[in-house]
Amino acid sequence: MIVYNLTCAKKHTFEGWFASGEAFDRQSDQGQVTCPVCGDHHVTRAPSSPHLRRASAQAPRSEVGQDGDLERLLEGLRQVMEDSEDVGEAFAQEARRIHYMEAPLRSIRGVATLGDTAELLEEGIPVLPLSVPLKKDLH
Ligand SMILES: [Zn+2]
Repeated sequence: MIVYNLTCAKKHTFEGWFASGEAFDRQSDQGQVTCPVCGDHHVTRAPSSPHLRRASAQAPRSEVGQDGDLERLLEGLRQVMEDSEDVGEAFAQEARRIHYMEAPLRSIRGVATLGDTAELLEEGIPVLPLSVPLKKDLH
């Protein structure tokens, strides 16, 4: 948005908001810009230069830095790892069985190929592809 200081023929001054300088020129030519005080169509731009309005509200500052967020994320992932059952290469099969309620609902982790993962996601089975260094040995 661009804000112009405008003046009518009777020297009323007011602000007009426009998408661009061209938009002001076009609307002014067509008599669409009128003085809010007297309705005069003979509106001209005041001598002061146009300025751009900025959003005054500042984004609230996060109290936790990015490093802290990452730490928390990793900690959460480790928790998931520890709470889940390692089904190894049967992951895709087991995820399907859980999804279709053929196996007890639980968190599992394991090894899946990219193709497996894509197929699971296509079937609407929520899996989270991760490549996180694990504490546990995966030999
Ligand atoms: Zn006026």
